[in-house]
Amino acid sequence: MTIKIDKKIVGYKVVTQEEEMPAVEAKPLLDVESMHENLARPEMLLGSTYKIKTPQSEHALYITINDMILNMGTEHEERRPYEVFINSKNMEHFQWVLALTRVISAVFRKGGDITFMVEELKAVFDPKGGYFKKGGVYMPSLVAEIGHAIELHMKQIGMLKDLEMDAHQKQFLAEKREEFEAKHGAQDDESSDFPEQAQLCTKCQTKALVLMDGCMTCLNCGDSKCG
Ligand SMILES: [Zn+2]
Repeated sequence: MTIKIDKKIVGYKVVTQEEEMPAVEAKPLLDVESMHENLARPEMLLGSTYKIKTPQSEHALYITINDMILNMGTEHEERRPYEVFINSKNMEHFQWVLALTRVISAVFRKGGDITFMVEELKAVFDPKGGYFKKGGVYMPSLVAEIGHAIELHMKQIGMLKDLEMDAHQKQFLAEKREEFEAKHGAQDDESSDFPEQAQLCTKCQTKALVLMDGCMTCLNCGDSKCG
């Protein structure tokens, strides 16, 4: 843009960048801290310890997950897992378990979405065979068990949503179960929450699949296949 100056120049001033910019309301820059690998570890971290007892070992396994709280006291407050430790008297798997905890901790600290790890770990199966947990849940390996503990932890700190069934679904399953027990008698096997005859449901890995009205129905997750 050209401006013709008709008068004598009596002085001048260079326009600074701030003056040239349109007037905007001064807003403080949001300084939201997110997880990244160079974040300094505070002296104290809050943690949770999960006990795992498998029929494959006489000693229990203790999984400790320590969390870091980012942006404490602000609306962006977020609790994220920072490191994991696994302890056991059982030294059989020592080097693999140690390696696994270091890799998991490294992924925790990388930041971003780390929930994928849960599914990866839960999908690992032991060629020697898995086992049933109390309640009839099938555990394909020790690694899967660690995945379950991390999943539980992520649900507890709000990183993962619990896919809770709605009241209607719960009621439907309770009715189905009563119907089944009325026909076949209630089970008295304490190791499972479901009828003794129940088969393994491939959707929720729980021994809760029963034949009802010609359909294989899962009394745990409600999955049903007819045919
Ligand atoms: Zn199921």
